[in-house]
Amino acid sequence: MVRQTPVAMDAAVRRTAAGTPYLREPGVVLLSRPATDVAGLVPFLSGLSDEFAGYVSDPTPLPAGTLLCKVAGQICYESFGPKRTKNRGAERYFANIMEQGHGSVLEHANYTVLLYGVSRSLTHELVRHRHLCFSQVSQRYVSVARFVERSEFQADPDLHAAFEARIDTAARQYAELTEALRARRAADGGAFATMAPRDQRKAVQQAARALLPNETEAPIVVTGNVRAWRHVIAMRTSPHAESEIRRCMHRVWQVLAAEEPILFGDYAEQPLPDGTTALSTPYPKV
Ligand SMILES: Cc1cc2nc3c(=O)[nH]c(=O)nc-3n(C[C@H](O)[C@H](O)[C@H](O)COP(=O)(O)OP(=O)(O)OC[C@H]3O[C@@H](n4cnc5c(N)ncnc54)[C@H](O)[C@@H]3O)c2cc1C
Repeated sequence: MVRQTPVAMDAAVRRTAAGTPYLREPGVVLLSRPATDVAGLVPFLSGLSDEFAGYVSDPTPLPAGTLLCKVAGQICYESFGPKRTKNRGAERYFANIMEQGHGSVLEHANYTVLLYGVSRSLTHELVRHRHLCFSQVSQRYVSVARFVERSEFQADPDLHAAFEARIDTAARQYAELTEALRARRAADGGAFATMAPRDQRKAVQQAARALLPNETEAPIVVTGNVRAWRHVIAMRTSPHAESEIRRCMHRVWQVLAAEEPILFGDYAEQPLPDGTTALSTPYPKV
C-alpha cells in the first residue's frame, strides 16, 4: 500500500495571444508524507511484557500515516498484546477514533502539498486556517506573474475574451509601472543605486504589485496534520464555500485519500451544478 511515486494532480499553463500565462485549475503536488518505522519499538515493548514483541511483526502493511497514528493511539492504553486491534482492523479502529472525537491521535501524521494554479483570493481564504503552515511566493521578490481564470469565465466566450484582455493589460501595466518606479528611484540617486539588485527589485515590486488583481496566481506550500487537513477539507468543500477553493480542496482530498484511504476515505462526494464537488463526512470535526 506504500506509494513509490509522488502523487500529483497537474494543471496546464496556457497563454494569451500576447503571451500572458494563465491556468484554469488548481495543481496539487504531494511533497511530503510520514515515514514510519516500528522496528525500534522492540526493546520498549519487550521491556513492558513478553507478549508485546509480536506487535512489530503485524503481517498487514499500512500506509505510513495510518500506521503512525495507530501506534500513537495504541500507546494510550498499551494496546500491544495479542488481543489488540491488528492492522487488518485499522479501518474499524479509526472509525471508532473519529466517532469518539479522539482527534489528537490524527495530529501525528503530516502531509505537505504545493498548490499552484490558485488565485490570490483563494490563498487569502486558505491562510485563515491557523493550524496549517504556509510558505507562499513573494510578490516583492518574484516578478513573473501568471493568472488564474475562474470557471465562470472559461465557459463564456465574452467573459473569457474579457479575462484575456484584462490579464494582458495587468501584465503590461505591471511591467510599465515597475520600470517607471525603477527609473524614478534610480534618478533619485542615494541609497537605491548602492542596493543589491535583489533589494532594488524588492523596493520596486512592493509598490508595483499594488495593481495586480485577485486573479493573480499565488503558489503556496501548505503543511498540515491529518486532523487539520480534515477540518479544512470539510469546511472548504461545503456547498457554502467559495467555488475555486472548493475545487482545490476536493483535489487535495483526492490526493490525500489516494495516499491514506483509511484516514481520508470516509467522505462522500456530491456533484454540484457549478461543476465542483462537495464532500461530506459523518466526522466533520474530530
Ligand atoms: C463558507 C465560509 C465563509 C466564510 N466567510 C467569511 C467571512 O465572510 N468573513 C471572514 O472574516 N471569514 C470568513 N470565513 C472564514 C472563517 O470565519 C474562519 O476564519 C476560517 O474558516 C478558519 O476556520 P476556523 O475558525 O475553524 O479556524 P482554524 O484556524 O481553521 O482552526 C481550526 C480549529 O482550531 C480551533 N482554534 C483555532 N484558533 C483558535 C482560537 N484562537 N481560539 C479558539 N479555538 C481556536 C477552533 O476549534 C478551530 O475550528 C468563512 C469560511 C467559510 C468556510
